[in-house]
Order: sequence, then C-alpha cells, then structure tokens
Amino acid sequence: MPKGKVEVVGGIMIYCDPENYPTNIKCQRKGFGAAVGIHPKKAPFFPHTKFEELRNLLRLKTVVALREIGLDRCAPASTWKLQEQILVKVLQLSMPICPVILHMRDTADQHCGEVGARCLQIMKANIAPTQRIHLHCFTGTVEQVVSWLETFPKCYFEVTGLVREFDCFQKAALRRIPRGHLLIETVAPYFRPLQASASTPAFIGKVALEVSRVRGEKVEEVLEFTMANTRILYQM
Ligand SMILES: [Zn+2]
Repeated sequence: MPKGKVEVVGGIMIYCDPENYPTNIKCQRKGFGAAVGIHPKKAPFFPHTKFEELRNLLRLKTVVALREIGLDRCAPASTWKLQEQILVKVLQLSMPICPVILHMRDTADQHCGEVGARCLQIMKANIAPTQRIHLHCFTGTVEQVVSWLETFPKCYFEVTGLVREFDCFQKAALRRIPRGHLLIETVAPYFRPLQASASTPAFIGKVALEVSRVRGEKVEEVLEFTMANTRILYQM
C-alpha cells in the first residue's frame, strides 16, 4: 500500500436496475456524480416506459454518464438477442461528450473476446467515433486494446481488483494501455479483497497497488494519473 492514506475524493453512483430507477438523484459533494443505464442482465425488465424514464434521468444535472449498458453472456442465452436490441436502442440516448460505460462479460471466456468483438461491432455501427467510452472491468487482451483505441480514440480501459487474478495475456494488455487511457475502480460492493467482508471505494489503493506491480510504475503515480483521467473523462 502507499505509505500515506488514500483519500477517496470522488465517485460515481450507479443506477442500472430499471425496476428500481430513482425519481431524482441528488449529489451533495463535489467530485461525486451519478450514472444511469440498464444492466444487460436486466434486459427482460425494460419495457418502453422504462426507456422514457431513462431518457428523463439522463437529463438530470447530477447524471454524468450512461451506465451501465452492454452484453452479458453469463445470462441465459435466450436473452442475448434482446440484450443486443436494448443496447442498440439505448445507444440512441448517448452523446459523444457524455461517457458510455460498457459492461462485457462471458463466463466461458475470461478475456471476453467474442462478446467484446460483438460489442465493438454494435458500437461502431451505432455511435460516432468521437464518443467517450469507458470499458468497465476490462479483462481483455492486447489485440482488444488496440482495436478499441483504433475505432474509438476516446476509449478508456478500467481495471478492478480482478487484476490479482490476471493471466499473462491480460497483464500484457494492462501494460499496453496508454497512461492517458487507464482507469481503476473498486466496483463496490463487488470484488472484495480477500480479507474484507465487502468491497468499498476505500479499497481503491489496493487496486492501484496491484496495477502498479503489473505495469512497473509507482503506486502513487497510478493513483495520480488514473484520477486525472477520471476527471477528464467525467468532467468532474
Ligand atoms: Zn458491470
């Protein structure tokens, strides 16, 4: 861990369950904002009325991003087509300046190669290359880093505590991500550190430490440049 304590100076609250969309979202503290979206696993619970609710939530001043949306192949295969249809529909609400945070998961492939390629194809067909994109919980390979950056130069790659379990391909990808395109996240309450009963944003220093070991950088540097990247991406 860094010698000094790591202070959490900002964060994003996520509302991606259409069955529990809030009516209003207030953020009292500077540096904190909210994101709204539809988690792909919730695709079967997204009628047209919810699409309108999502559109209205995105107009709130406190909402700084469309999150999360994407494809999740851990959900039953019977929902995959619907997930894609909803992703395309929700992308209509995106704006280049407002980051889109993508969730891409596949139980059968830890690198998410096939689902990632499908996501990239859908994004390419439906949004401008100037779109700001945040690839959440990225676990891909060098080839994926290269193709996302070629297609979307404003693409950011975020890694979580899962970095502890990265294989050599994922570590190579993490080293390949340019400094100006790397983000870190705890995904609290998920991905708890081994000794903790739950994950909280306070564990961000541990994620930075793991990242610094793989990239051969100082942990303080990782914290500094990922924080600067987050501020640029979210304009907070
Ligand atoms: Zn996710």
